Amino acid sequence: MRDLVLIGGGHAHVHVLKQFGEKPLQDARVTLVGRDVETPYSGMIPGFVAGHYSFEECHIDLARLCARSGARLVHAEATGIDRTGRRVLLKDQPAVTYDLLSIDVGSAPNVGAIAGAEQWAIPVKPIAELGRRWLEFSERMKTWQGPLNVTVIGGGAGGVELALAIDHRLREVAKAASLQVTLATKDEILVGQAAAAHRRLRAIFLRRGIRLLEHAAAERIERGAVQLEGGQWHQADAVFVVTEASAAPWFTGTGLPLDERGFLAVDDTLASTGDPRIFAAGDCATMLEHRRPKAGVFAVRQGPPLADNLRRVLRGEPARPFVPQRRHLSILGTGDGRAVATRGAWAIEGRWVWWWKDHIDRKWMRMYR
Ligand SMILES: Cc1cc2nc3c(=O)[nH]c(=O)nc-3n(C[C@H](O)[C@H](O)[C@H](O)COP(=O)(O)OP(=O)(O)OC[C@H]3O[C@@H](n4cnc5c(N)ncnc54)[C@H](O)[C@@H]3O)c2cc1C
Repeated sequence: MRDLVLIGGGHAHVHVLKQFGEKPLQDARVTLVGRDVETPYSGMIPGFVAGHYSFEECHIDLARLCARSGARLVHAEATGIDRTGRRVLLKDQPAVTYDLLSIDVGSAPNVGAIAGAEQWAIPVKPIAELGRRWLEFSERMKTWQGPLNVTVIGGGAGGVELALAIDHRLREVAKAASLQVTLATKDEILVGQAAAAHRRLRAIFLRRGIRLLEHAAAERIERGAVQLEGGQWHQADAVFVVTEASAAPWFTGTGLPLDERGFLAVDDTLASTGDPRIFAAGDCATMLEHRRPKAGVFAVRQGPPLADNLRRVLRGEPARPFVPQRRHLSILGTGDGRAVATRGAWAIEGRWVWWWKDHIDRKWMRMYR
């Protein structure tokens, strides 16, 4: 019996679990090491903040998925890998041994880069934590009187969707508040997306009265205020940080090759470039030959080739290379039951675009829930 160990219940690993459940390998045992038993589906989180989905609708219960797939679940946080002894080291629990290992633990916004963020900002990752924090926060806002300034820092797809979702939800629940949502970002919004998408989103921000501050990196957060580039302070009763993804610090201790930002370096089969027994996918991995943005859509797409390659290696066959799509459809919910879809140079907006996104997301969730 060989042990395939999966660290993290990310988007690619839920597919691996399902696939091994449907077609089990006679002589392989699958173990998932997961820090959170309920893993969020990132595509639906802004919809959860906006009030369109319940907590259950946008989370996958890994205990049930493992039970259905015949996999063992170890509810623990991985803290390192002893590659000589082939063991995954866990926080407060005995290590788990592996013959083949795969890592899909995601990423977290780099809060350390903004002074005071760790103390004063509401972290958006782990997203499971954001779910709980958001429910508490929106509950408190129901009785808020007078000015309410909420700042989202980070103008990528996650930050843009979150700012729009927060604005929509708080206008519904904080009836006695005079709300001002601000999105502040270091460069422009949606770097790397089409100019048409920038135009549409800027127009939506203007229409909704959400203040958009581009080329305004946050430098410091204190109680009730954010300091932006140039030294100006802005009032902020709550701050959400959705800045550039950073890698888990424990990767450095594994001795595995990392990219320049500390993410696990993998080849075009998703195997580590320094250890053929270790695979990695999703945000935590960088395909050196095919670099793509750190986005859930790529983690989802890596599920099938990852499952296939883990199976091949367990059977003693060579892993197969794959090339991730270069252009992808990105649909950003605007929180108010509408959405903007963008691919290549075009962008379209409408209520039907939200229905389309909702259909795609619910369909994906149905496969794993
Ligand atoms: C607010 C917000 C909205 C977003 N919206 C979108 C969107 O609409 N579309 C899109 O494509 N992307 C979106 N993103 C980006 C998206 O969240 C990530 O790209 C995506 O979640 C990455 O998936 P993953 O499989 O790599 O990891 P994750 O989904 O982050 O999963 C990681 C898993 O690993 C577990 N884990 C972590 N560390 C450990 C450990 N040490 N030991 C054991 N388990 C561990 C976690 O519990 C979790 O289950 C959004 C991000 C944010 C913050």
